[in-house]
Amino acid sequence: MADVDVAVVGAGIMGAATAWWLARSGAEVVLVERFAIGHPHGSSHGRSRIFRLSYPDAPHVAMAQEALPLWRELEAEAGATLLERVGGLDTGAGLEERAQALTACGACFELLDREAVASRFPSVSLPEGRAALHQPDGAVIHAERAWHALAQVARARGARLVEGTRVLDVRAEGGLAVLRTADDVLRARVAVVTAGGWARSLLAPSGVDLPTITTRETVAYAALGGGPPPTLVEWADDGAFYALPSPGEGLKAGRHRATHAVDPDTDAAVDTEEVERIAAWLAERFPTAAPAAHRAETCLYTNTADEGFILERHGPLVVGSACSGHGFKFAPLIGRRLAALAAADLP
Ligand SMILES: Cc1cc2nc3c(=O)[nH]c(=O)nc-3n(C[C@H](O)[C@H](O)[C@H](O)COP(=O)(O)OP(=O)(O)OC[C@H]3O[C@@H](n4cnc5c(N)ncnc54)[C@H](O)[C@@H]3O)c2cc1C
Repeated sequence: MADVDVAVVGAGIMGAATAWWLARSGAEVVLVERFAIGHPHGSSHGRSRIFRLSYPDAPHVAMAQEALPLWRELEAEAGATLLERVGGLDTGAGLEERAQALTACGACFELLDREAVASRFPSVSLPEGRAALHQPDGAVIHAERAWHALAQVARARGARLVEGTRVLDVRAEGGLAVLRTADDVLRARVAVVTAGGWARSLLAPSGVDLPTITTRETVAYAALGGGPPPTLVEWADDGAFYALPSPGEGLKAGRHRATHAVDPDTDAAVDTEEVERIAAWLAERFPTAAPAAHRAETCLYTNTADEGFILERHGPLVVGSACSGHGFKFAPLIGRRLAALAAADLP
């Protein structure tokens, strides 16, 4: 017999969003987290993330369009501003594909030349002859605030949050999902595993082999003079540099690439050479930003080969591995999809 309808393992942004939707549907939910909401060891910490509709393929544009009203719904329920529209700029490789995908989904955008960018966004400086795509729905997500907000609304709707508890093992037994911690065993009709960079090793003994690689990325923060800039992503064939306003901290910037696999429990050091590369790019694109980054930190990516998300069900186990460095913007939508997978056969 089950102790609970659904156990969600891992209360990062995806687990918290899943618990919110499950609790809204009336399911009995326990959300188990090894650390505490807001902790810096996984993928969801820090004050800011980019929200953008701009993707090079229509399905991702459509997903972002579907996520946007859900963010507004969450804001209304939590009584907090979580997304601030600042507009988004994409430059570099693949602008044509982005324009086509946005057009296919009926999303508005403009193509701006270098001079138009400089006059509209005085803090941004593009190389000679370079164009950018401006999408007005681009926004900054108040990431840390959103994470706390999701945990708060999930609890307000009846989800039970258990922090400081590591699930040591989760597997299907007798049609139920059985979770073991250091001092307890919990039987759930369904377990949703949203354990980010730890999901692969946690699930392996149950026979679920996730095609994910965990990497540790370094991001840097720099002061910025003038008004808040739009978000900026400069795409290249092997990744991208990006920058976004980070409330109270100036600019946050990093490089989207995912190269070295790590054990998520080790190697937490900032990559100082990467900080220098990021600062050099910032100095070119934001000449008014202080050239030196004043702070840097790391964050985990959980990567799939095509940067797609894994949302699937294996008997009583639902897997939500949704990162590849671009999942945050979809969190309320991914939470809804995972909750639907989990609730499929609940009474
Ligand atoms: C540097 C960086 C920049 C990013 N920028 C953007 C951006 O601009 N826009 C965007 O949309 N996305 C962005 N992302 C991606 C986004 O942040 C992630 O997609 C998202 O945070 C993933 O959340 P998660 O809940 O899957 O993982 P996590 O936040 O890592 O949550 C997993 C949770 O599971 C817990 N856990 C693990 N194992 C166990 C266990 N055995 N028992 C109990 N609990 C466990 C962990 O402690 C953790 O809290 C960025 C990511 C990084 C790293």
